[in-house]
Amino acid sequence: MTESNPTTPSFELPAKMSQPGPSVALISVGTELTTGQILNKNSQWISQRLKEFGVETQWHLSVPDDREQMLRAFEFASTTCPWIFITGGLGPTSDDFTREVVAQWLQQPLQWHEPSWISTRDRLLSRGVPARDSHKSQCYYPEGATVLRNDAGTAHGFLCQKNQLKVFVLPGPPKEIESIWKNSIHAWLVENTKDLDPQLTWSWDCLNVPESEVADVVETALKECQFSKAYRVHRPFVEFKMSFPKSKTTEALQWKEVLDQKLARWIPTSPIYLDYNATTPLDPRCLETMTPYFQKQFGNSISTHHVGVQASKAVEHARKQVAQLLNVLPEEIFFTSGATESNNWILRSLSKMNAAFFSSPTEHKSVLETLKFLEKQGSPLHLWSVEKTGLVPLSEMERTLKSWAESDSSQSMIPAISLMWVNNELGSIHPMEDIAEKIKTWHPQAFLHTDATQAVGKLPVDLQKTPVDALSFSAHKLYGPQGVGVLFLRQKWHSSLTPLLLGGGHERGLRSGTVHLPGVVGAGMACEIAREQLLKDHFHFHQLQTSFEKQLQEAFPSIEINGGNRRSPYVCNVSFLGFHVPTQLDPLCTSFGSACSSQGVSTSHVLKAIGKNNHQASKTLRFSWGRGTTVEDLQKALNFLKLHLRVDKSFKPN
Ligand code: PMP
Repeated sequence: MTESNPTTPSFELPAKMSQPGPSVALISVGTELTTGQILNKNSQWISQRLKEFGVETQWHLSVPDDREQMLRAFEFASTTCPWIFITGGLGPTSDDFTREVVAQWLQQPLQWHEPSWISTRDRLLSRGVPARDSHKSQCYYPEGATVLRNDAGTAHGFLCQKNQLKVFVLPGPPKEIESIWKNSIHAWLVENTKDLDPQLTWSWDCLNVPESEVADVVETALKECQFSKAYRVHRPFVEFKMSFPKSKTTEALQWKEVLDQKLARWIPTSPIYLDYNATTPLDPRCLETMTPYFQKQFGNSISTHHVGVQASKAVEHARKQVAQLLNVLPEEIFFTSGATESNNWILRSLSKMNAAFFSSPTEHKSVLETLKFLEKQGSPLHLWSVEKTGLVPLSEMERTLKSWAESDSSQSMIPAISLMWVNNELGSIHPMEDIAEKIKTWHPQAFLHTDATQAVGKLPVDLQKTPVDALSFSAHKLYGPQGVGVLFLRQKWHSSLTPLLLGGGHERGLRSGTVHLPGVVGAGMACEIAREQLLKDHFHFHQLQTSFEKQLQEAFPSIEINGGNRRSPYVCNVSFLGFHVPTQLDPLCTSFGSACSSQGVSTSHVLKAIGKNNHQASKTLRFSWGRGTTVEDLQKALNFLKLHLRVDKSFKPN
C-alpha cells in the first residue's frame, strides 16, 4: 500500500543505499532526460569514473523538468551526501528553465563561458564532420568555479554543495581525461571528503517511523556537530543517516546511542507473516515432488513420445490426488492457472447456457467482476443481501429462487448460483451441504457453483456429501505452488462447458495451453498432504484462534471480531474500533480493510457489504495463519499491536 505524503520526494529512489563513505549523489536534469541515450552514457560514465576513484554514487536521481521536484531532489541529495554531482542542463543545448532552477538552488548566477580549449565543434570540423554551433563546448556555470574537462563528448556537470559550487566538468579532448580525473577530480574529492570517516557514518532502515519521533535528536545533533547529516527517505520505509567528522567522535557515539534506542522498535526484524489467506508458503514436500519436473521430466503432457507420456502420467496422478481430496472422479478435475480462471471459466460458460445468476456481494472479485461483466452482456444477475456475517441466509435464497421458478424467465433459463464456501476476508462459512441439497428441491434445474478457495485443504470438502455442480480453488492457498488452479465440474455438465482458451487441445480439449507440469504435480501433492493433515490442522488452529482472539479482546476491549460464530479456524478479522491503526504495520504482515493508494482510498467490498463504513474499515485488519505459524508468532503479533495501536480518545462506543 502506498501512502501519499506531500513532503516525500516523488521521484524514483534507488532501491538500496551503498556503503557509507565518501559519496556523491548524481542528479540528471534537463537535456539529460530528453536524450535518453546520452543520459545513460553520461551518467554511467560519470558513475564509473567516480567508482574507480573510490567514490560511490550513492544515489542516481533522474529529475523531470519540474521546479519543485528539482529543488526537492537537490535538497534531498545534499542532505544525504557530502557532495552532489549535477549533470545535464547546463551545456550549449540547455534550456533557460533548467538553468534558472539550478541557479536558484545554487544561489549563484550562471554565466556563459567560452572555454579556451579546442571545442567539440572544432574537433568535428577538423575531421570533416559537419558540426553545428551547438557542438561548441560552451557551458553555463558560475564565476569562480574550478573547470575540468572530460571525454564523454557531451558529459558536463558540476560538483557542489548547497550554495557552493566546487568543480565544473566540461566536455574535453579524450586523451586528457584519465589524468584530469585522476589528478584533479579524485584528488579534489578525497580532499573534500576525508574528514568524513566511514566509521562515523551510521544509517538506520526503519519502518513507518513518524518524523516527530526523531526530530528533536536530529535537530540538536545537527546543531552540535557541524558535519552531521540526518535525513529521511520515503514512506513507508525511512532511512536515517548521520555522518560525523572525526573531531566529533565523542558526540557522535552519544548520538548514535540515542538514535539506536529511539529507533529500535521501528527497525524491521523478520516478518511475522499472518496473511495465509493471501497465499501460503510452498510445502517442502511439494517442492521436492515438483523439482524433477522442472528439468528431468519436463515433457508436454500431450506429446505422444515417451517423454510426453511420462508427463501425462504425472498430470493424471495429480488429478487423482485432487479428486481424492474432493471425493470425486478424476475426470471431473480440470487444471487451470488459478481460482480466478476457474471462476471466470465456469461463469462465462454458464452465461452461454443461458443462465440467470444468483450470488452474493461478498464473493471474491474474480466472481463478482465476472458476473457484473456478464450482466452487461445480457445475463440477469441477482445479488442476495448478506447478514453481518457476510453470509446469505437460506431463507433469502429460498424466497428468491422459488419466486423466480414461477417467473417467465425460468422457462428458458437455468438459475446459476455462485456462492463462496468460506469468505476469504471474514472466514465465515456458508453451510454448503445444506445449500446444495435445498437448492435442488427449490429448483431442480438449478446449477450450483462454489468458490471454495478458502475451504479446500482447510475444511472437509466431500462432494459426495455436498452435491455442488462446480467448484474452484487455487493450489497456493493450501501450500501448493502459485499459478495453479482447479475447476471441478460434474461429468454431466461437460458437454455444455465452453473452453475459455482454445488451442492445442490440452485437458480434453477444454482448456488448451501446455499444462504447468511441476505446478500441477505440486498441486496434487498439496491435496494429498491436506487429506492426511486436514483434521489435525483444523483442531490445532481452532485452539490457536480461540486463544488469539481472547488475548486480543483483553488487550483491546472495544474491538469487534467480524464474521460471526461459524468461521474458519484460520482467520480472524478485527475492527479495532477505539484505536488508531497505522496504514503500514511491517514487519507484521496482515491484510488491511482499506488501503490508500495514489488513486485514493479503496475500502473492502466485503466490509462495505456487511455494513462497515470507511472509517471502521480503515481500522480493520485480517489476520490469517497456517502450518508455518507458531504460538510465538501470534504472541509477537499481539505485542506488536499493543505497541503500535494507540487509543483513539475521540472514540465513543455505541
Ligand atoms: N477466490 C477466493 C475466495 C480467494 O481468496 C482468492 C485468492 N485471494 C481467489 C478466488 C483468487 O485466487 P487466485 O488469485 O489464485 O486466482
